[in-house]
Amino acid sequence: MCWAQRDLKYIWHPCSQMKDYEELPPIVIERGEGLYVYDTDGKCYADVVSSWWCNLLGHCNPRINEAVKKQIDELEHVIFANFSHKKAIELCEKLVKVLPDGLCKFFFTDNGSAAVEAAMKMSFQYHQQTGNPQKKRFMALADAYHGETLGALSVGGVDLYSEIYKPILLDVIRIENLDSIEEVFKQHGAHTCALIVEPILQAAAGMKIYDAKYLKQMRELCDEYNVHLIADEIATGFGRTGKMFACEHAGISPDIMCLSKGLTGGYMPMAIAVATQKIYDAFYADYNEGKAFLHSHTYSGNPLACAAAVEVLKIFEDEPVLQTAQENAVYFSEMIREKFGKVRSIGLINAIDLKPLLPRTGWQVYKKALENGLLLRPLGDTIYFNPPLTITRAQMDEVTDIALNVLNTLFF
Ligand code: PMP
Repeated sequence: MCWAQRDLKYIWHPCSQMKDYEELPPIVIERGEGLYVYDTDGKCYADVVSSWWCNLLGHCNPRINEAVKKQIDELEHVIFANFSHKKAIELCEKLVKVLPDGLCKFFFTDNGSAAVEAAMKMSFQYHQQTGNPQKKRFMALADAYHGETLGALSVGGVDLYSEIYKPILLDVIRIENLDSIEEVFKQHGAHTCALIVEPILQAAAGMKIYDAKYLKQMRELCDEYNVHLIADEIATGFGRTGKMFACEHAGISPDIMCLSKGLTGGYMPMAIAVATQKIYDAFYADYNEGKAFLHSHTYSGNPLACAAAVEVLKIFEDEPVLQTAQENAVYFSEMIREKFGKVRSIGLINAIDLKPLLPRTGWQVYKKALENGLLLRPLGDTIYFNPPLTITRAQMDEVTDIALNVLNTLFF
């Protein structure tokens, strides 16, 4: 039996209709290097979606590899309640220097959705413990995406993922359009504990970009109505939008920020909900007052993941990663505009909405691109590039040429 058949015998893949694998069997990857991954037959794929937006500095980045190898010989994991370890401490010390002002208390989880759950519970409990028990609801944007666990799915607004589960989801207040934010706060601010947003870029909704003025307005309204602003920077953090964090586009600080994906360079499943001192203080009391945040995950603060994350930040410190990515982003978006016409761009992210000319247009493009050595996994009928920050200009030429060729073959 070949690797693909052996895979299909047991593995139920994420975000997949498994019947599609009859037509397109799993591609079994053996190794990765920089922008590229290689399958068991040696075929090469340019990973322009950064393997679900997490691979930040190239596959098998030599510096991160070394850091993880070194860590594994020292400590692989340790209980994180009452115990700690050097890499977690070092990581927080480094993060606090690059995060927006005021974010200084780090609560570790092991995936993005879990960080969103932690942030939501933290916000709810804060209000319960600070004399506002009526604040029980969450507010979120239309087209939001915050993960797949039930709380995270509740605040999400992409029906494709949540529709069938609606009977078991939280009743969330939805901001249906960005010009109605003030109205929604007037009506619901008093009983809302937090507004959760993907700052500036709604990635899973199809790389939708909104103006920084709305984020500023949300910050102001949250202050006015004593509502926490939770910034979900899981997809946008660590330079993806051209700034270290997307909140910087609006010059605002949230009350809680969720980090994951690029946090470990895409190496290990780790996430953090970072909170303000004010939130932390509302939980700090004598044990018998019962105010502690009793949330936990077995792999909280995993040392291997922390070692990878520390190395990512060291790379940002030692090398002009962000600056080079910013310069290259201009080149990339101009080239894509020339080759494809209308495009939405922010940082190195560029999205193109395809006309639905074929049944499952995006899927057809996906398959054809794979044949041509390009991993370009569309969101519906929107194709996008969200490559590692280390992509070179020559690679930009290469991947856009392949994509253009794919579209020409399919549609013209
Ligand atoms: N929030 C955002 C903005 C995301 O893009 C994602 C993942 N795509 C998540 C949360 C969930 O993270 P995870 O897949 O690690 O649970």
